[in-house]
Amino acid sequence: MWHDIWGNENSLYLEWPTITSGLERGKREMAYSLGKSSLAKLSTVDKKLWTVCQDAIKISRIDFGVICGIRTLAEQEALLAKGATQTMKSKHLDGLAVDLMAYVSGRASWELNLYDDIADAMKEASRKNEIPIRWGAAWHIDDISKWTESMEDAMNSYIDLRRSQGRRPFIDGPHFELA
Ligand SMILES: [Zn+2]
Repeated sequence: MWHDIWGNENSLYLEWPTITSGLERGKREMAYSLGKSSLAKLSTVDKKLWTVCQDAIKISRIDFGVICGIRTLAEQEALLAKGATQTMKSKHLDGLAVDLMAYVSGRASWELNLYDDIADAMKEASRKNEIPIRWGAAWHIDDISKWTESMEDAMNSYIDLRRSQGRRPFIDGPHFELA
């Protein structure tokens, strides 16, 4: 919508379906970028991981933010107590891991299928920069840049592997770390 020189909304413009659909198409093709809070969290992690995340957001089909960069020992202990993590040896403690959060129309979402799309973008960015990355929903793959199928397939293969071992899979879709 735009206003003419007298400040009136130009209704004619709104009635042009071709222009409107063109704008919508343009919006979808626009690359995402990280917000202030995400950049602040990302600045706490290793430069290599920083590079992969910065490239991934530009090519990702799904918008995302960084919700965790480096983590203190006290924060890790609290997460362990809650059962939100299984280890005190987390790579977050050394700034070698990030947690990403998916956004749909600007709202945070935990839908798992969004995270394998983000992982696809992280894989491409990992490959481009030759920086090995491990994903928290496919722990059995040391370097996702070497994985030739989709990251959804990667997660399914991890789940199958754990089941074949009689163990529960530990799916942490938002988590990415330097391998
Ligand atoms: Zn994490």
